[in-house]
Amino acid sequence: MALNSTATTPPTALPYLDGDVPLAQFPTSDRLPVRNPADHRELVGTVALGTAEQVDRALDLAVAAAPGWAALTAAGRAELLRAAADALDRQDTAARAMLLTREHGKVLWESTLDVGGAAAILRYYAGLAAEFDAEVDHRNAVGTARFRRRPLGVTAVIVPWNYPVYLASLMLVPALLAGNPVVVKPSEVAPLALTETLRTLAAALPAGVVTVVPGTGPVVGATLTSDRRVRAVLFTGSTATGRTIMASAAPTLKRLGLELGGNDPALVLESAVVDDRLVDELVRGTFTSSGQVCYSVKRIYAHRSRYRELVAAYLDAANALVVGDGRDPETTIGPLTTRSQYDRVRALVADARQRGAQVTTIGRRGATARWECGNFLLPTVVTDAPHDAALVAEEQFGPAIPILPFDTDDEAVALANGTDYGLAASVWTADPAHADVVARRIEAGSVFVNAHRLGASDLAMPFGGAKQSGIGRRHGFVAVEECSELQTIAHIADPAGLPGPATPTRPGRQAPPGRKEQ
Ligand code: NDP
Repeated sequence: MALNSTATTPPTALPYLDGDVPLAQFPTSDRLPVRNPADHRELVGTVALGTAEQVDRALDLAVAAAPGWAALTAAGRAELLRAAADALDRQDTAARAMLLTREHGKVLWESTLDVGGAAAILRYYAGLAAEFDAEVDHRNAVGTARFRRRPLGVTAVIVPWNYPVYLASLMLVPALLAGNPVVVKPSEVAPLALTETLRTLAAALPAGVVTVVPGTGPVVGATLTSDRRVRAVLFTGSTATGRTIMASAAPTLKRLGLELGGNDPALVLESAVVDDRLVDELVRGTFTSSGQVCYSVKRIYAHRSRYRELVAAYLDAANALVVGDGRDPETTIGPLTTRSQYDRVRALVADARQRGAQVTTIGRRGATARWECGNFLLPTVVTDAPHDAALVAEEQFGPAIPILPFDTDDEAVALANGTDYGLAASVWTADPAHADVVARRIEAGSVFVNAHRLGASDLAMPFGGAKQSGIGRRHGFVAVEECSELQTIAHIADPAGLPGPATPTRPGRQAPPGRKEQ
């Protein structure tokens, strides 16, 4: 297979998308290279390093766009969101998917899912407009009232690198439907396919409704999260950055939606049947995207009566994985997206080994993978690790998985909950009643039964973290609710009916001048 050459492409990142800020404001020296994690020699593009002044300018544009956008009904906004989805469909999705694979490393089918998510999410939320526009009437003894939804105002959307287009859309689109103008900060690691997508999306909407400021978290992100004009911050990323954002947003009391890290447990219960379907699902849940999915399986606990059988079948199934360049159809797992992530996962495995764990490396190298030039790691299964080893206790975000036995449901639940994270979890069993009993005891925003991988949480299923895995929920109408606030408009027809002493009659009230008292 002929992979793309190492030729560079012209820079594609734009500072703003309303067209009136010239690219020339960003000299080449203020750009970072974006390199292919499957081959560091390949420069995929560059990303501009936005400044605080440019954030200021973007916020001016968003503030100016806010009244017009808020004045439309959600139904009116939905029409424009549908038009944006149509415009994205006319774009070359395959080219954007290839760009994403080159900047991120993920295999092409995943990139197609990621970039294709934008149009799907636009159409899904456009379909919820009537729910947003519906107002509730209330009548009481003194009059009538209406409860309506109104936008929060300018919203900052801060995006991680792992599913850049899909996750940005999950934050951006509900905010837009609710009537908020949005300023987006892509991740500097994988900004290119997202920026291409936003360029098209923004062009379908009134000027200033969507602007993009590329750059680093400490500059662009921190300026957005502290500026008083920003009323809400929607963030997806690590728990550590979530804390920083919360502190930065505190002085101006911004609304926060935080989707953070996780350490998802999968519990294979005594009532599970360890067959091919179960094992295949577990392997996919662990290794898709090299484990760089927020709700990847990150720890597996199996009942001791199932443990040996599970480990053997899991090693056998995972051995079919092929690690390589995401552009090669043979590849099932791409490289780690960043070198720091690659170093971290290797260090976690080395630490577990040093603490007595058994480490088994499986799968094989893809024929076209330039192994020495990329962040490639073979899938790794770690058994007999201590529960407090960092690989078990922390989020690895990579293709190394600990598998540990347990003896009772109580112990399994205690292990699952013994972490500050609570994003998702799964229980694996042939007994649905047993699944429900255990699932309800797990402190996680989502608990899946007999699957735990991309797509297990569909757009209509509220998704978000318990404990330090986040604040708020994405997906469904709840995401729109979180980007808006209720306003009560109360018509008080009979103030005398309000509580409190009757209004005193005012003795000796003077008649207006020129009128005689009768
Ligand atoms: P980071 O938290 O490192 O970065 C996320 C975004 O925040 C980036 O755009 C980054 O900018 C920006 N940022 C960094 N510092 C600041 C700051 N001080 N103020 C404002 N913004 C800042 O996460 P990653 O991109 O490394 O993503 C991986 C993490 O995301 C994992 O922990 C994963 O679990 C989590 N995640 C959670 C999901 C969920 O739904 N719960 C979904 C996907 C990922 P830059 O890097 O460009 O400098």
